[in-house]
Amino acid sequence: MFQLGKSEKAFNEAKRYMPGGVNSPVRSYRSVGSNPPFISSASGSRIYDIDNNEYIDYVLSWGPMILGHANPEVIASLQEAIPRGTSYGAPTLLETELAKKVQAFMPSMEVIRLVNSGTEATMSALRVARGYTGRDRIVKFVGCYHGHSDALLVKAGSGLATFGVPDSPGVPQGVAENTITLPYNDSDAVRKLFDEIGDTIAAIIVEPVAGNMGCVPPEPGFLETLREVTKTHGAVLIFDEVMCGFRASSGGAQKRYNIKPDLTCLGKIVGGGMPLAVFGGSREIMNQIAPAGPIYQAGTLSGNPIAVTSGLATLSILQRDPTIFKQVEDTTIALCEGFERLAAQYNVPVVVQRVGSMFTIFFTDKPVKNFEDAAACNEEQFKMFFHHNLSHGIYYAPSPYESNFVSICHKSSEIERTLAVADEAFKKISD
Ligand code: PLP
Repeated sequence: MFQLGKSEKAFNEAKRYMPGGVNSPVRSYRSVGSNPPFISSASGSRIYDIDNNEYIDYVLSWGPMILGHANPEVIASLQEAIPRGTSYGAPTLLETELAKKVQAFMPSMEVIRLVNSGTEATMSALRVARGYTGRDRIVKFVGCYHGHSDALLVKAGSGLATFGVPDSPGVPQGVAENTITLPYNDSDAVRKLFDEIGDTIAAIIVEPVAGNMGCVPPEPGFLETLREVTKTHGAVLIFDEVMCGFRASSGGAQKRYNIKPDLTCLGKIVGGGMPLAVFGGSREIMNQIAPAGPIYQAGTLSGNPIAVTSGLATLSILQRDPTIFKQVEDTTIALCEGFERLAAQYNVPVVVQRVGSMFTIFFTDKPVKNFEDAAACNEEQFKMFFHHNLSHGIYYAPSPYESNFVSICHKSSEIERTLAVADEAFKKISD
């Protein structure tokens, strides 16, 4: 019998010491109205909680674990590295090696800088874009998440182009005012904005495959439009590939859709599960960063040898065996086709969206192209699906606005088990 007694107790204690009992809000399970399992360990496709429940994991630490949890080669390289010391705050050979590997996957990243989180990568990329162009305004898209820095925590109001209002108390109005939000996949809105004030805009930042309103692919022509208007008006195009980086293809969304951004942000997989992220791009722009240039950016733990070792080991495996990308994509296709088939069997309106090895099951009857579409999905059906799965050992992201992920450790037996539980869940929803 599924139970979370120990986790519930642990959660109550954690709430006394940490806001909401967690160190990142989505982990609290508030959006699905329950308490989170507390995790004790993970291996391959599986994750285990302190009540001894075992789950097939489709969260994968929110994306990084494409090789599965505790990959033996990655763990061995970490075990070898740790006795040499955990931080030096000085240059190492490892960093150049990682930079070379990142560039081999994404040639647009001619020069890179290592940071500690996706938030830092996007925040720093924006500063570079502003410093380089001498302009303050930036454009982001509704429903795209780029971390929690002030300028990017801005929500859209109604209308074609909304000058930002802060999404969170504590974000100064003056900062938010320089963030313009537009609907995702709306090329006309982008063109209209750039026709009007394009010469005052420093950058467009975009998830080229959106993952933070659920998985929403770019419509044909959308990324091309972004590339064209930024080029025409001297603005910087920033692809935030923190999530889709090694998921949309081996070379991210930029390879899959053949668009070369000026700057790219990577996180998650690039650190193989350790706190590591990267931003980089054209030599001309990146060499504006200190000490090569005047734009300041720094970090005590940036390029940390343990984090870099984890990233290097992960990228080395992916480089040695590029069929991994096809393997995880094929598994994800099989899974998504299964969901569609089962939902149709029970007449549950569902649209399954997938790019590479990321996917979302939307409880709706029409394709989700932007945040408004995502927000119109049936939350109650999502919650029923989620809870049935969790209590039967399938661990999905606890929110309808998230992507799920597949690893190389998800084999046909995991897919079969997952679809058998999905079958029960869709049946329950249809009853
Ligand atoms: N950008 C994207 C596309 C993300 O999905 C995330 C996190 O999920 C971030 C940036 C922020 O990364 P981090 O949580 O490492 O700060």
